[in-house]
Amino acid sequence: MKDHDAAQTMRSRAECGLKARNTLFNQIQINRNKQLGRGRHCGRFTIRGTPVTGATRFHRVNCKCWKCSFCGPKKAKRYKRAIRQVAETRQLRRLLTLTLDPKKIEGDPVRYLNRLFAMLRVYLRRRYGEAPQYIRILEFQENENPHFHILIDRFIPRSWIKAAWVAIGGGYMVDIRYVKINKVAPYVSKYLTKKLLLSPAPSRCRRVTTSRQIKLLEKPRTECKWKLVKATISVLYDMYAKNVLTLSNDEDGMLESFTVADDAYP
Ligand SMILES: [Zn+2]
Repeated sequence: MKDHDAAQTMRSRAECGLKARNTLFNQIQINRNKQLGRGRHCGRFTIRGTPVTGATRFHRVNCKCWKCSFCGPKKAKRYKRAIRQVAETRQLRRLLTLTLDPKKIEGDPVRYLNRLFAMLRVYLRRRYGEAPQYIRILEFQENENPHFHILIDRFIPRSWIKAAWVAIGGGYMVDIRYVKINKVAPYVSKYLTKKLLLSPAPSRCRRVTTSRQIKLLEKPRTECKWKLVKATISVLYDMYAKNVLTLSNDEDGMLESFTVADDAYP
């Protein structure tokens, strides 16, 4: 009887795998090698884990770069949601925009802007006796000048910021906008657009930074241990095709993850 049940299970598993394969097989064939403007290392490797007993899951590792046509918009969406939540709970209700006088820029513009902001932070700490909490977003204007949009937790006189910014080398020709936001979440939803977050920027510069107390994207802890497999998911799919239980594609129709039965997995 036991053997009969086991055989039944195996058959239904095989049928299930076959069905899934048939419906998505063509799609995978077409899409597996398409780059779609993705980052160079996007999907190069795979992670393997066992989040549910009885099945081993393979999941594609994406590059998570801003410039990647797949990861960029996803990242923007994730950041947007996190910023909205944190700004609301921490009551970051002032928006400060800091730009630079292009004539004042020495060397790399982003580095220069970062250096100035670090100095401004020192000024602020001195003035308030504590470091203000903020979320800072780097954006590039059309003339390629970087500037910051900063959601900050307190009222700071505009004249004071301007004087401080001039004193540390930001120049007079600056655009300091300062607004009080009554409802943070809708404001962030409306003005912090994907376009802003994805505005072209040199690689390796951090687009969103926060004061030390704020953690924007904390990784959820999982019980499952994941291991890196240095192969693309389509190669692995070919290896385990016969034993695939479930599979899922991403929005581009590319294979994102699949599971195989543990007993089929050597
Ligand atoms: Zn990517």
